[in-house]
Amino acid sequence: MITDASEIPAESTLEADVCIVGGGLAGLALARTLRAPRVLLLEGGGEDHEADTQALYRGQAVLADGVGGTQDLGPFLAESRMRCLGGSGNIWGAKCARLDESDFEARAWMPGSGWPFARAELQPFYDRACELLRVPPFDYDPATPFDLERPPLAVGAGDRMTTATRHLSPVRGGPGSALAEYKQAATGAANVEVLLHANVLELVPDAAATRVERVRVGTLGGNRFAVRARLFVLCAGGVENARLLLVSRSGGAPQGLGNAHDLVGRHFSNHATFGPGVALAFTRATESLDLYTTRDPDKIWGVLALSKAAQAREQRPNFTVTMGPSEGPPSAEDKDVVAAACLADGGYGGEECATREPVPAYFMLEQRLNPESRLTLSEERDALGLPRVRLEWRFTPEDADALRGAVRAFACELGAAAQARVRCEWPAASPFQEYSPSRHHIGTTRMHADPAHGVVDADARVHGLANLFVVGSSIFPTPGIANPTLTVIALTLRLAEHLTAELAR
Ligand SMILES: Cc1cc2nc3c(=O)[nH]c(=O)nc-3n(C[C@H](O)[C@H](O)[C@H](O)COP(=O)(O)OP(=O)(O)OC[C@H]3O[C@@H](n4cnc5c(N)ncnc54)[C@H](O)[C@@H]3O)c2cc1C
Repeated sequence: MITDASEIPAESTLEADVCIVGGGLAGLALARTLRAPRVLLLEGGGEDHEADTQALYRGQAVLADGVGGTQDLGPFLAESRMRCLGGSGNIWGAKCARLDESDFEARAWMPGSGWPFARAELQPFYDRACELLRVPPFDYDPATPFDLERPPLAVGAGDRMTTATRHLSPVRGGPGSALAEYKQAATGAANVEVLLHANVLELVPDAAATRVERVRVGTLGGNRFAVRARLFVLCAGGVENARLLLVSRSGGAPQGLGNAHDLVGRHFSNHATFGPGVALAFTRATESLDLYTTRDPDKIWGVLALSKAAQAREQRPNFTVTMGPSEGPPSAEDKDVVAAACLADGGYGGEECATREPVPAYFMLEQRLNPESRLTLSEERDALGLPRVRLEWRFTPEDADALRGAVRAFACELGAAAQARVRCEWPAASPFQEYSPSRHHIGTTRMHADPAHGVVDADARVHGLANLFVVGSSIFPTPGIANPTLTVIALTLRLAEHLTAELAR
């Protein structure tokens, strides 16, 4: 059932077993899966985009490139997410991927790495997340020719680069879309009530600040009411999850709820795609690139990825190369640039290069965990009176070095095998001066068993608060390289199972 929050009696208090804050892909998945008599989902937006609601997402954002330069990211915070039912699921690219096994493991060369559980723990929930997002399960071995007509490339000696796979989900915006059915599965459930235009303003703890007692809710029209519940779950997205904790300063938490160790908002990371001027010029006409260059929603999509063994051996972060459709025959300039790059790096042999059409490509590198990369509250307030967010997305010199090193290693691998040349116009100072930010907001309420290192525990419960949970990309301990949403849904389904058991106790 859907109700507009303007119809709720002013200053009343509603009761629920579980109160979900946010009706994006995560909140909707939780609502449809939870077995609880009364689930109340509070969604700040309406059914569709509304300018005044979207404006609540505005904030300042800057990027520090790791070598002294900063850039104003302008409207990044308002434009990298959507505040209405379905959330950013209305506008996402729908590219689904599992995190790699290695992303879950402690890697000595990656600070703060190691999830509290292995990927195997998440696998049953990945399978169910694939069902919800209507993509095939990732049940093939990338080392085998899983799609016989579109075999994976063997790059160079074959043990450094492997093929990672992606699928496109049909659960995305548009009339009559699979997203409409995804929403209906939650809004039509008998035990679920969805309140639209219901913006959570604050989480109010009990006197001892060990439980959330109620949330205060407001509409832009000025209605105010409260919700009490046995359990509360923040599904407000990677930025707002942290913002809501930071603005909740009543009772015994002047620094914000769950923030005793000053971790809320820290460790922000995103995926930067570095690609301007990057092209791969393959020398052999025999190799099919179809797996990598064709965007067919019904087919597997491959990206080249640094293998787990190479990451460990060379102490590199996770790294991928995504190819796009070819843009036409190579120009004379392409041949020159590619040849120059070969000479500059040396050791490639003298083979003819750029005999085929160059393929545009972009690189992605896993960002190192950086506590100084963070969200804080600004002095400015939104139309509901809440402090806006300020984002300082900070790379380190190690990130810049790691990206350069990974690209060079990849280029050498292709070049040494006389397989392809890599054209890459490298910016003079930092690669992060020439990048495109993804719209993935990761790490601001990170998961760790120890409250000194994480905001939520392995069950996604906020440390020190018995009945408050957070789910979304904000709880990833480290970002990995895969697009985050499939993992967000898997974590949500795992949490639904946990909460259903907790309610039955
Ligand atoms: C253009 C674009 C392309 C993307 N492409 C991809 C991709 O290809 N693959 C991929 O994996 N990911 C992609 N993403 C990221 C993906 O969209 C998100 O990871 C995913 O939608 C997050 O879902 P969520 O439910 O956790 O958060 P959100 O979608 O942010 O949902 C949060 C919900 O909470 C509501 N809310 C916020 N604050 C409050 C409040 N105070 N009170 C009540 N409700 C509130 C919001 O209105 C929203 O409905 C993309 C994102 C964008 C913007």
